[in-house]
Amino acid sequence: MDSSSDAHGRHRCAACFRQFNKMEHLVEHMRAARHSGHEPRCDICRKHCRSFEALRDHLGVGGSTLPKAASCADAFAARGCAICLRVLAGAGAASLGAHRAACRLSRTPPPRALQQHHRTQPQGGALALGCKMVGAGSDGSLDVCARVCVIDEQENVLFEAFVRPLLPVTHYRYETTGIRPEHLRDGASVTVKSAQRRVEELLLDGEQPWRARTSRGRARLLVGHGLDHDLHALHMDYPAYLKRDTATYPPLMKTSKLSNSLRFLTLNYLGYEIQTGHQHPFEDCVAAMRLYRRMRGQQHHPRADAHAPAPAADDQQPFPSWRQRELERMTPEDLLRLSTPDYHCWCLDA
Ligand SMILES: [Zn+2]
Ligand SMILES: [Zn+2]
Ligand SMILES: [Zn+2]
Ligand SMILES: [Zn+2]
Repeated sequence: MDSSSDAHGRHRCAACFRQFNKMEHLVEHMRAARHSGHEPRCDICRKHCRSFEALRDHLGVGGSTLPKAASCADAFAARGCAICLRVLAGAGAASLGAHRAACRLSRTPPPRALQQHHRTQPQGGALALGCKMVGAGSDGSLDVCARVCVIDEQENVLFEAFVRPLLPVTHYRYETTGIRPEHLRDGASVTVKSAQRRVEELLLDGEQPWRARTSRGRARLLVGHGLDHDLHALHMDYPAYLKRDTATYPPLMKTSKLSNSLRFLTLNYLGYEIQTGHQHPFEDCVAAMRLYRRMRGQQHHPRADAHAPAPAADDQQPFPSWRQRELERMTPEDLLRLSTPDYHCWCLDA
């Protein structure tokens, strides 16, 4: 049977299942949608979703809204993992339980992270950065960095310090930061400049800053949540292609394309609570790093089909208008194989 159209002659998108009366409209949709095998997908009906949030809605996980797909939601409730949103087909009750327990991480950091405090040599891989801000300006609403932390993938602390802001602190935000004036005194804290130097040194790992702008070399991937805000507070920048930001990674964003909070992401995709009481930037680093590693560890095989048409390079429009005629003759599955995402999927870092 030709899968490109249903009994009513409609054309169904092979990814999101939207239907179109005309093939040219499906091609137009594919041009805009940038579907790919990197999108979060329902393990039951194989529908692609824009984000994990959309997939949660589809499966009826969490929220009070009715699931969009009742049959998927029923199957998910029986065999699904509410953290990674995968369905463990054929798994016995014991292995299902074991998976769910392993997928839900605990808040307590591994003890070695604290024992090996202030290690200076990172183990390799990405680094995560976290800053805690206090308030400056007449009403205390201007964020200035007062505490910084950098960890490696193994959650070892590489750098951790209180930072003396350049502007006078007008609000310590003690309830959430736990920071008091004595923490920021000369002997107890470092200058913004020296914090910036240390962070840069760790990130570049011996690479020349000018070289890192275009070719990675030894420079590390930088993981964090709202990285631009943190980097701005440290008066530094870092090449965009080396940043892995959980606040702006499309699969982790809201359907409305706004950022989720790190607290929300950690609770829903790692399974534990953060940012209760006094917040240490170490905890934010660990949460962002764990989210990054989860996302990077996903098994996407978008190009597994050897007979697929050659996909466009990731920075190219895969559906140029000069190919319109040819595209309209393809099956929806072929169109999907041709399509590329408009973001860098973190599985490609693995
Ligand atoms: Zn679609
Ligand atoms: Zn991927
Ligand atoms: Zn489904
Ligand atoms: Zn899971």
